[in-house]
Amino acid sequence: MIIMLLGPPGGGKGTQAVKLFEKYKLPQISTGEILRAEIKKGSELGKEANQYVSKGLLVPDDIMVKIIKKRIVEKDCKNGLVLDGFPRTIPQAEALDEVLKGLGKKIDKVISIVVSEKFLVERLTGRRLCNKCGAGYHIKFSPPKQNGKCDTCGGELIQREDDKEETIKKRFRVYQEQTAPLIRYYRQKGILKEVNGEGDIESIYKLIINSIEIN
Ligand code: AMP
Repeated sequence: MIIMLLGPPGGGKGTQAVKLFEKYKLPQISTGEILRAEIKKGSELGKEANQYVSKGLLVPDDIMVKIIKKRIVEKDCKNGLVLDGFPRTIPQAEALDEVLKGLGKKIDKVISIVVSEKFLVERLTGRRLCNKCGAGYHIKFSPPKQNGKCDTCGGELIQREDDKEETIKKRFRVYQEQTAPLIRYYRQKGILKEVNGEGDIESIYKLIINSIEIN
């Protein structure tokens, strides 16, 4: 089963992808995470990607398609996967369709998580990540037990460079212009399901499961 989560930055894709992984045991492929790992490593790819990521811009399609092509042929993707943050443009979506076709696979469901801009800004500016294990928190919606410290490993909680308010606004604009057209693209294919993303994590999760399991 191949599931894709589509939605603006801060729309909750990452959180829900982790929950889907727990339920279906399908690997979560987050291109944002792959890029952040490369940036942290200081690899050539990371250095190039960071020029875009730090500014809230999309990394060029050819780089992203190369990354995804390599990742989806790995063993853990044999029975399916959850895509989180890829594709983000029509050319990426077309490239993905081609690659999957070559593998005899196709996307089963695209879940579009719908949230307003106001809600997003509040969510994103409050987001924190553990700089050691990568666990995610939110100062308002899911705060750590101890201020600034990871519950699991005690690491320091930091704000992603691209979660700063100015960058958020740019990322939202980028989403509207470059990624939102994918909603139409997948609706035309008959595999799009829209879900209200403004509730709490559990109720959104239930809506997503319903969308996946009920036709
Ligand atoms: P995310 O964690 O999914 O919000 O991604 C963080 C950042 O990584 C984005 O703002 C982009 O700069 C970059 N990125 C992640 N996935 C893609 C993609 N599929 N295409 C282009 N850029 C991406």
